Amino acid sequence: MAFESLSDKLQNVFKNLRGKGRLSEADVKTALKEVKMALLEADVSFKVVKQFISAVQERAIGQDVQNSLTPGQMVIKIVNEELINLMGSETTEIQLKPASDMTVILMAGLQGAGKTTTTAKIAGKLKAKGRKPVLVACDVYRPAAIKQLQINGEKQGVPVFSMGENHKPVDIAKAAIASASKNDQNVVILDTAGRLHIDEDMMNELIEIKEAIEVDQTILVVDAMTGQDAVNVAGMFNDKIGIDGVIVTKLDGDTRGGAALSIRAVTGKPVLYVGMGEKLSDLEQFYPDRMASRILG
Ligand code: GDP
Repeated sequence: MAFESLSDKLQNVFKNLRGKGRLSEADVKTALKEVKMALLEADVSFKVVKQFISAVQERAIGQDVQNSLTPGQMVIKIVNEELINLMGSETTEIQLKPASDMTVILMAGLQGAGKTTTTAKIAGKLKAKGRKPVLVACDVYRPAAIKQLQINGEKQGVPVFSMGENHKPVDIAKAAIASASKNDQNVVILDTAGRLHIDEDMMNELIEIKEAIEVDQTILVVDAMTGQDAVNVAGMFNDKIGIDGVIVTKLDGDTRGGAALSIRAVTGKPVLYVGMGEKLSDLEQFYPDRMASRILG
């Protein structure tokens, strides 16, 4: 699981803090320097770390901490609260229209980020909520991607709409929406093509889809293993096409996890879910407070 090393380091810092009686300003500063190092090593963006530490420091050097009976505990509490703030405080759901209406969700992300897998995971969650989702194969460049979506759709018991490789993604999306209306499906999830790197063609394709049809939610999938790149990718997608939320995959792996901590602060957009494994059930709603507890141990 991600954050193991961050967790260990923070627990060490906290052990020292708890061991002290009164805390001098220097004690707090030393502890926060260690927290700062630990966050940077976990791949949290530099700017985010700086803002985080100054927010904690401002509160931790105040009277409340000095006068408290357990100053170490107070500092830990502040770190916890600021960590939750950093991740956006509240859980954000994918915004769906009422079931009588159709919701269109566009899934975007770089190749290999876990987009196709995550698309099927989301469909499973929506189905469990009583929605009638349909998965749409808009990645026309990789036949394997279409096949993968079909296999995953089947596993989830969710229909997959495909027109093969010889149509434009925007036309597939339009046809899928028309077909969904006829078939009483109320969530259309578009699995779009990713590239290895951000390029203009990919962005233009997404822009074209968003101009042609009414997309209700644009969700970006990023790979936690790519660290700060994941955050940069989120920033760029948000600037170019506008995103509503992010799903951070592969947090189960041996990743440092900083992306999950930085995305909200850098892009202003919430993390909605985290991918915790390859299985189609391995998708967890993102709770900032639970994530903070996981990190702080
Ligand atoms: P796409 O190119 O973005 O559509 O990526 P895929 O959905 O094909 O996923 C790429 C690889 O990442 C596959 O081997 C997936 O099984 C794997 N994967 C996706 N999400 C997760 C996750 O949350 N955890 C782990 N460990 N692997 C994942």
